[in-house]
Amino acid sequence: MKQMSREPIIGSDGESPLDDENQLRPQRLRDVIGQQDVIERLAIAVDATRKRDETLGHVLFDGPPGLGKTTMALCIPKEMDANVLITTAAALRKPGDLVPYLSNLDEGAVLFIDEIHRLPHAVEEYLYPAMEDFRIDIILGEGVNARTISMQLKPFTLIGATTRAGMLTAPLRDRFQIREHLDFYPLDQLTRIVNRSASKLNIGVPETAAVEIAQRSRSTPRIANNRLRWIRDYADSRHEGKVDKDVAISAMEMAGVDTLGLDKLDRQYLETLIRVFNGGPAGLEAIAHTMNVSSDTLEDEIEPFLLRSELIVRTPRGRIARTAAFEHLKLAPPEGGDQGRLF
Ligand code: ADP
Repeated sequence: MKQMSREPIIGSDGESPLDDENQLRPQRLRDVIGQQDVIERLAIAVDATRKRDETLGHVLFDGPPGLGKTTMALCIPKEMDANVLITTAAALRKPGDLVPYLSNLDEGAVLFIDEIHRLPHAVEEYLYPAMEDFRIDIILGEGVNARTISMQLKPFTLIGATTRAGMLTAPLRDRFQIREHLDFYPLDQLTRIVNRSASKLNIGVPETAAVEIAQRSRSTPRIANNRLRWIRDYADSRHEGKVDKDVAISAMEMAGVDTLGLDKLDRQYLETLIRVFNGGPAGLEAIAHTMNVSSDTLEDEIEPFLLRSELIVRTPRGRIARTAAFEHLKLAPPEGGDQGRLF
């Protein structure tokens, strides 16, 4: 296989949104903490494909933000010893935007498309023959002189990542041979991630502090890393760089992070639902308008953890705050508790 550089080549938008995170990102599948089932299946697929000297089937990762979709996507080309091109659906507004990517892929290379559910329909349809037969149609010339030629591509692997698997059309979803869902991390795995990141960032973090940070990180590695960076700043500025459990707690409290790991926006969501909509049911758009936040942000970044923690539920009539949410905010739950409103 021809090798150029195995460093990710970033898409046309120049600055990589990945730069900040690359420092802590595991580089190989064996370095990824947790998600054992997913990692094992990926390792088998990679191993078998390498033994057969074939190209890996297309891979789709879905799950809430910050759980490791990009991390795993970027480990795969490293394991396959293959090149990778990276882009995001927002940069692919028309089919022609895909052509430079597809035509530059070496045999066996990986094209990673983030937020793949945002692809416009025309771009998505243009991908179908590329994924299935490694072929695209290119229009040469304009007007009456325009003609279409079919271009053969080198076999490649498309890796898509999405926070909204439900928004993918069935024809696109079905063209991915490997589909993996990433779930929130249990406390012990997140604590290991905090420890790993602390040692990469050269911060001494005792176990009790690591557990506290993990506990307040909404079961999400990206959030754990962000909390850790803030705690490092706080400790460097106020405690001569020394981190213990009390320092970690003071730093997180100063940043508005509470015992459940909710931050200001999470609590604002719950308060809006409870105070403005009497605990619900309330529609997503109504909550988003009241908070002056986009409904996409709420649905992608706020709601998954609140749902998983059973602080809210989604019903056909809208979102409802559960009794636990009232209790967490120290507000009196309505008469009859959840049951009266849920059914
Ligand atoms: P996503 O693409 O799902 O939004 P990322 O792959 O960008 O999430 O992960 C965010 C950050 O969290 C990464 O930079 C990495 O440092 C860390 N991370 C995510 N998953 C893991 C994991 N399983 N083990 C260790 N670190 C992880």
